[in-house]
Amino acid sequence: MNEGAAQLIEQASRTLGPKAVITDPRDIEPWISDWRGRIHGASPALLAPSSTEEVVEIVKLAAEHRVPLVPQGGNTGMSAGATPPADGSAILLSMRRMNRIRSIDAEDHLAIAEAGVVLATLHEAAHEIGMRFPLTLGARGSCTIGGLTSTNAGGTQVLKFGTMRALVAGVEAVLPDGSIHNGLSGLKKDNRGYSIDQLLIGAEGTLGVVTAVALRLVPAIAARAVAWAGVESPMRALDLLRFLEVRTHSIEGFEIVPRDSLELVLKHVPGTRPPLSAEHAWHALIEATTPDDDVDVSGELERLLGLALEQGILGDAVIASSEAQAEAFWKIRDSISEAERAEGQTLAHDISVAVPEMPRFVVDAKEQIERAFPGVIASGFGHLGDGNIHFHVRAGGHAAPDWYDAEGAQITRFVDDLVTAAGGSISAEHGIGQLKRAEFARLAEPGRVHALRAIKHALDPLGIMNPGKLVP
Ligand SMILES: Cc1cc2nc3c(=O)[nH]c(=O)nc-3n(C[C@H](O)[C@H](O)[C@H](O)COP(=O)(O)OP(=O)(O)OC[C@H]3O[C@@H](n4cnc5c(N)ncnc54)[C@H](O)[C@@H]3O)c2cc1C
Repeated sequence: MNEGAAQLIEQASRTLGPKAVITDPRDIEPWISDWRGRIHGASPALLAPSSTEEVVEIVKLAAEHRVPLVPQGGNTGMSAGATPPADGSAILLSMRRMNRIRSIDAEDHLAIAEAGVVLATLHEAAHEIGMRFPLTLGARGSCTIGGLTSTNAGGTQVLKFGTMRALVAGVEAVLPDGSIHNGLSGLKKDNRGYSIDQLLIGAEGTLGVVTAVALRLVPAIAARAVAWAGVESPMRALDLLRFLEVRTHSIEGFEIVPRDSLELVLKHVPGTRPPLSAEHAWHALIEATTPDDDVDVSGELERLLGLALEQGILGDAVIASSEAQAEAFWKIRDSISEAERAEGQTLAHDISVAVPEMPRFVVDAKEQIERAFPGVIASGFGHLGDGNIHFHVRAGGHAAPDWYDAEGAQITRFVDDLVTAAGGSISAEHGIGQLKRAEFARLAEPGRVHALRAIKHALDPLGIMNPGKLVP
């Protein structure tokens, strides 16, 4: 351990006490690898502040001793942004003890939650007052408000409610010089120049430590309808979404699933069954909701899907007849990554292109990759309505055990080149972290790189906030 880190740990132990300074390697060990278990780091200590004032104390010590901090929430991020470097030069800053919901108000439609509040806890708190925080994703039992804010997370309801950027009303954060930015006032209008709140959203811990967030709530759901439709292509799936969107405001989820992803889930995930009896090349999972008790959302969706069937937009569709069946449909969608892992080695790409371009992109990219790398199987599934697909490439049956390490980088470059040529983004919702940093550096426009570096340097001239992440 370097001398600066040793001094920081010693001073932090004295001022913050043993609960906030953990140095036993056994307690640190679970937090130094990324969620996928691919990147492994090291840290001489894990600091766990319980208040904004304690974060200020820690950031000031880090600046004084020039020791980098790596903020961490639930460690569920997909780009290894919360994993410290392997040389042990940085200290982990866990925000999980800052887990109070400071206020929650149905009339104001606002909750103020500390950074370490777990998403599912916020969901429950909103539900108790007849409201809802509408962003949700598979890691909701572990990911935190600070992490979601710092990665500008998306999830399955973005179509209607947007990403964290749209749902955050303000941010409280400790900036790299130890000053506090307080954006929690709940002002609807505030035009005092650059939005520091928006700068911190998606900053992946490189510009400061998010300590609390004001979040927008919406009325709770009174009823929902979940449908599974068979369509012949992603183009038809987008036609279906457009057809529904002009006729109702109730659609909030629209995911596409190709046949081979469905087959993998049925093969590997116990208890799953095909929603439709006939086979279809593609499927759309549709969720419609209403906050209004008087609206028959299920009847409306059934009528619209019937019309779409008559017009030849879809091949067949079924509406879940119970909450259990609705959950079973979602389980298929949510289990695709797990089923792929059970099948073998998989390379994941979280990409976006403009919504109207996405259907063609999915089909063309699959063809091109399978031609360029014989034996692999490519498929895209996910948030079609957001122009965001999880584009996964699987090693075929005869791949070598080291396929991922040997060929992964080359295949990813190929995918990223296709995305860039289509004017898209190599990271739609998972951020850059350390996993995508080299590719980001290779492909980003010079103006974007210049602006990112300038902002980083202006706010964090000592480079103590999560260095080696995001900024090329
Ligand atoms: C099963 C599963 C499903 C997922 N599905 C989705 C999905 O549908 N959509 C989606 O967008 N993402 C998804 N994710 C990834 C998603 O990014 C994370 O779940 C979440 O946003 C990260 O929250 P976290 O608290 O775990 O953050 P961490 O992983 O701990 O950190 C993520 C980044 O934020 C920084 N950070 C964390 N807390 C703070 C803080 N308080 N202040 C400053 N910086 C901080 C870290 O340094 C790191 O750079 C999924 C992950 C899993 C495991």
